[in-house]
Amino acid sequence: MMLKTEEMKQEKPQLGRPIAAAKPIDVRAMKPKINLGACEKNYDCVVFCPRNAISVGQKGFPAINYDLCDGCLICLRECPASAIANERELK
Ligand code: SF4
Repeated sequence: MMLKTEEMKQEKPQLGRPIAAAKPIDVRAMKPKINLGACEKNYDCVVFCPRNAISVGQKGFPAINYDLCDGCLICLRECPASAIANERELK
């Protein structure tokens, strides 16, 4: 079944907003950490995060919601400024 244009727009999630169905993460070996000094605000991390765990925060810098982040580190790989590092999750 083909969706009408308006229906397709409604299906598309908004970038930087948490997915309503996303569950909090309780198992994560590594987590990303943004180096704001190196960040160029190109927002590739916001766009590529599969869990919409990164949004635009204070002063336009990306901010990670660790309740949604599953530690896939796609943001680290996609950042052209290498402004995202990974660190061991301490529980
Ligand atoms: S590690 Fe994965 S889930 Fe977590 S913020 Fe980066 S891209 Fe999103």
